[in-house]
Amino acid sequence: MRRILVTSALPYANGHIHIGHLLEYLQTDIWVRFQKLRGNHCVYMCADDTHGTAIMIRAREEGITEEELIAQMQKAHVEDFAGFDIEFDNYGSTHSPENRELCAEIWASIRQAGLVHEREVERLYDVAEGMFLADRQVRGTCPNPKCGATDQPGDNCSVCSWHYNAIELSDPVSALSGTTPEVRKHPHLFINIEQKHAFLERWTQGGEHLQPEIANYLKGHFLHEPLRDWDVSRPVPYFGFEIPDSPGNYWYVWFDAPIGYMASTKQWCDRHGENFDDWWASDRTEIHHFLGKDITYFHTLFWPAMLETSRYNLPEKIHIHGFLNVDGLKMSKSKGTLVAASTYLKHLDPAYLRYYYASKLTNRVDDFDLNLDEFVAKVNSDMVGNVINLASRTARFAQQTGLSAEYPDDGGLFQQAAQDGDEIAEAYESCDYARAIRQILATADRANRYVEHNAPWLLAKDPDQADCLRDVCTVGLNLFRQLAIYLAPVLPRLAQQTGELLGQPITGFRQSKTPLTGTPVAKFKHMMKRVDPKRVDAMFAASVEKGPAGGAGLQSEPSGPAGSEARAEQAADGGQPLGGEPLAEPITFDDFAKVDLRVARVVAAEDVPEANKLLKLTLSLGGDDRRVVLAGIKGVYRPEELVGRLLICAANLAPRKMKFGTSEGMVLASGPGGKEIFLLSADEGAKPGQRVH
Ligand SMILES: [Zn+2]
Repeated sequence: MRRILVTSALPYANGHIHIGHLLEYLQTDIWVRFQKLRGNHCVYMCADDTHGTAIMIRAREEGITEEELIAQMQKAHVEDFAGFDIEFDNYGSTHSPENRELCAEIWASIRQAGLVHEREVERLYDVAEGMFLADRQVRGTCPNPKCGATDQPGDNCSVCSWHYNAIELSDPVSALSGTTPEVRKHPHLFINIEQKHAFLERWTQGGEHLQPEIANYLKGHFLHEPLRDWDVSRPVPYFGFEIPDSPGNYWYVWFDAPIGYMASTKQWCDRHGENFDDWWASDRTEIHHFLGKDITYFHTLFWPAMLETSRYNLPEKIHIHGFLNVDGLKMSKSKGTLVAASTYLKHLDPAYLRYYYASKLTNRVDDFDLNLDEFVAKVNSDMVGNVINLASRTARFAQQTGLSAEYPDDGGLFQQAAQDGDEIAEAYESCDYARAIRQILATADRANRYVEHNAPWLLAKDPDQADCLRDVCTVGLNLFRQLAIYLAPVLPRLAQQTGELLGQPITGFRQSKTPLTGTPVAKFKHMMKRVDPKRVDAMFAASVEKGPAGGAGLQSEPSGPAGSEARAEQAADGGQPLGGEPLAEPITFDDFAKVDLRVARVVAAEDVPEANKLLKLTLSLGGDDRRVVLAGIKGVYRPEELVGRLLICAANLAPRKMKFGTSEGMVLASGPGGKEIFLLSADEGAKPGQRVH
């Protein structure tokens, strides 16, 4: 059994969690859940990152203390994470006594190693407020002679992007007092990280701990020349920890933030009677950090240098991911694509995002694109149409009888799926979730073909086939259970529902190796609904932030409850469809009754390769009544996403010979054509063969 400690980057207590942040927490949560299901002793540590100037500024703006601000934000973060089933073993705060103590200890080691020295730094000082100003507390004229834009902050110009030191601004004005600050000298403490150069070269370039592109980036940008000293102190006032041997100076937020991983672990250890050193000072523990590429520098140079200088474990692996884009573009408040976690949860099932991210995450650092059409299609066809469908088509028949006492002959399917588990596990282990999901879907396809071929809905008609029906359902449900086990890191709720359905909780990956037999089957409950694209639209509409961006780059709470969005949508229904195709002549009821419309289930769907527009659908009207219908919906619907759906079929149309075969009916759809075709479906509960009145 491995002992594994996992962290995600600490969210800053200056804003709410959004879908971009969630990429990382879901990536980490999936990995942690996988390790736990494998039987490893794995713990997941996180905390709010609470210190620094931005917190001071925001607390001041809101007229509350820093402590009040970080307490509010922590509560919101914890709720958001819980809403997405992200399960930390401990969620702490960098503003904790444990963190203060560990910072002091590590600082003492760094001092003792002779890495700290003091140097005077020139900074802007607000005489009226009696304090040095942070970059964001000052505005002035851009020092770039070609620019000269006014009202710019103290670090870089929003007009020409020039980077500068705040003391270079012309006409600086303090944002706190409105007075002109003066340049004053103040001693700062620096860590001479260059003394660690040889160690960092070895550690980053050895090929074991970092992705190759990250190792190359460090080599090309930092390690090819002497490393610059790191300024780790800030003068009072600062929201953070005062440096014990340097009164009036505080540790810069990036010094104490990563130590927060350790402090969070300390809290967990104290609560569980564990020994802290077993986790942070033992060869037997692997430490894995998950983080975004924007904070690579701190975690791959400073952090290992700090750990190596103190007596603590170096990370085994640092897993770095890219940024989230939505439909190929940067997330934007004005477009509504920067969706707060809480807004998402008002509109959509968290399982959708968990599944979608998993289906696309690899172990590379590339940026990640959330494509909305793909989001809907993947959830609806892969998850609901392929995986969930397997249970919904078998469980109801097995409810009376339970599973067969002995596992029936399934032609080796269970065995094959059990073997697939090894490859799936290997893909999860290497953070290539996209590969794990592809393999799971291939396994699901085989299981669906089995159910399709054995058609339990037909066997159920014939009392003489009761044993056979039970065997088919036993196989179908066991194959489904294997998939639920493999998906458990991604979809914990599905795993739980499957455990309830089949009377045995899913607790480990190894359960996929042994079939369940002779156990009762509970009443089948809905496991996952299809994504309604309208809800996706409503979510983005609710995330649009109008007007200029909020102060200090803070993310404000998107407004508007779901209900008002829905009303706005209704009011916006235009008259074009009706105007474009006016109503036909009135008919009598008898005329209407001549068309016999029936509910039909799509049991198979395939492409007609020679035809531009046609898909060949095999419809079940219940029992063994099958119709083959050619429908002009190719390119609009993918065959696999149709299987299992309940459609409406004009069932008494005379068969029509077409170029590519005979069509024995018609499925109903609306829309002008082209890409705008919308199939009509029956609500859940309708039965194939029922007449539509
Ligand atoms: Zn400028």
